[in-house]
Amino acid sequence: MNAITQPLTAATERCPSYYSATLDQETAYPPLQGEVSVDVVIIGGGFTGVASAVELAERGLKVAIVEANKIGWGASGRNGGQVTGSLSGDAAMRKQMRKTLGEEVDDFIWQLRWRGHAIIENRVSKYGIACDLKHGHLHAAMKPAHMAELEASYAEAVRRGMGDSLTLLDRAGVRSHLASELYCGALKNRRNLHLHPLNLCIGEAKAAASLGALIFEHSPVLDIIHGARPAVVTAQGRINAKQVLLAGDVYHKLEANRLKGLIFPAMGGIVATAPLGALAEQLNPQDLAVYDCRFVLDYYRLTADKRLLFGGGCNYSGRDSRDIAGELRPGIERTFPQLKGVAIDFQWSCAMGIVINRIPQLGKLSDNVWYCQGYSGHGIATSHIMGEIMASALTGSLERFDTFAACKQIKVPLGDLFGNPMLAAGMWYYQLLEKLR
Ligand SMILES: Cc1cc2nc3c(=O)[nH]c(=O)nc-3n(C[C@H](O)[C@H](O)[C@H](O)COP(=O)(O)OP(=O)(O)OC[C@H]3O[C@@H](n4cnc5c(N)ncnc54)[C@H](O)[C@@H]3O)c2cc1C
Repeated sequence: MNAITQPLTAATERCPSYYSATLDQETAYPPLQGEVSVDVVIIGGGFTGVASAVELAERGLKVAIVEANKIGWGASGRNGGQVTGSLSGDAAMRKQMRKTLGEEVDDFIWQLRWRGHAIIENRVSKYGIACDLKHGHLHAAMKPAHMAELEASYAEAVRRGMGDSLTLLDRAGVRSHLASELYCGALKNRRNLHLHPLNLCIGEAKAAASLGALIFEHSPVLDIIHGARPAVVTAQGRINAKQVLLAGDVYHKLEANRLKGLIFPAMGGIVATAPLGALAEQLNPQDLAVYDCRFVLDYYRLTADKRLLFGGGCNYSGRDSRDIAGELRPGIERTFPQLKGVAIDFQWSCAMGIVINRIPQLGKLSDNVWYCQGYSGHGIATSHIMGEIMASALTGSLERFDTFAACKQIKVPLGDLFGNPMLAAGMWYYQLLEKLR
């Protein structure tokens, strides 16, 4: 089955993908009709919106999520499923946050890097969410310069007492974990996770609903009304609230005066092969998620039914590639020559929100209207961290929010016209640097 060529069916209205074909339980929340009043209304039903809703509902607030399509329809339901300890812009964050946090900045970032893992694990166990959650990543080196970076990461982890969770592997060590000749070493990390992201997102929405949250699907928000009692407006309804959280990432066009030019779409493609049976265990006996050290990297893992789910590259045209399988097959066969000619059952793509300096963008549009977006391809853990930070901010604890909000947000004038070409040039530059190191 070549999933991307299938039309969207009325039954699911999701992008066809391995995830939509294997979701635990399809959602069926109603569209918003008429007028509703809550404490907080959240625009967007991806991880940012849903994780914030769970946090707020657990604190006793009446919450509503308004989603233009379906819960998990965007990047949250279509990504690689790898929960890493990277916040994407760690280095830039360290530089900027030193101004507000001083010497505490390194501890702040280190703790934040693992906070999302804890939130996800607790939530999965607390609400019994079936999302194929597993531990273990290999960050794989393709040349000695990569290995030097991994050694530095390992040294930092040891210094901070996390050495038990990590192992440095040489070429032979990697070979005993993966049936691939591509790598000269790797950092094995048992703290990192991988999972079925769509089932996690839908499971978290269900948890929020069980705590009283209202959820509306097929309800694009057309406008945000600011004022002492803000509101969001859809074609057939309106939600009045005390506070509004805008969590539409790169998919929304709201508040263009303030937000246009801050975040840009990069299209990423993923495929899933046919089930590999016993071969899966030979290729990756410990069922680890793998990603390499290049700036434009390949990433892959096995699914619960033993397919290879493989992603890589991205483009800044804002358009889907016509032949994702054709683009990714050489990477699969270079990594695992044993898979030459393997059948590809699913291919799909999705936009991720990229910000120029890679620092998640948290801010306020008015006294009671907030936004949170832009994890530059590292959003599973980060969105959950931000959900906690936003829920704290909306309930009066502003410390971590203020630390992020004080970071410089780079706005590109005439955003749509110049932002994506700038990112494409940046990617080309980094690919050149990659060749030279
Ligand atoms: C191909 C790909 C692979 C990735 N792999 C990984 C990975 O392995 N690990 C990792 O950590 N991260 C990964 N990411 C990044 C991660 O998926 C995202 O950073 C994260 O899911 C963003 O979550 P979000 O809720 O902010 O946005 P989204 O999940 O995109 O959700 C935004 C939602 O808002 C809704 N919306 C927009 N406008 C409106 C409106 N006006 N009214 C109502 N609703 C609206 C949209 O319909 C959408 O459902 C990947 C991303 C892509 C695209």
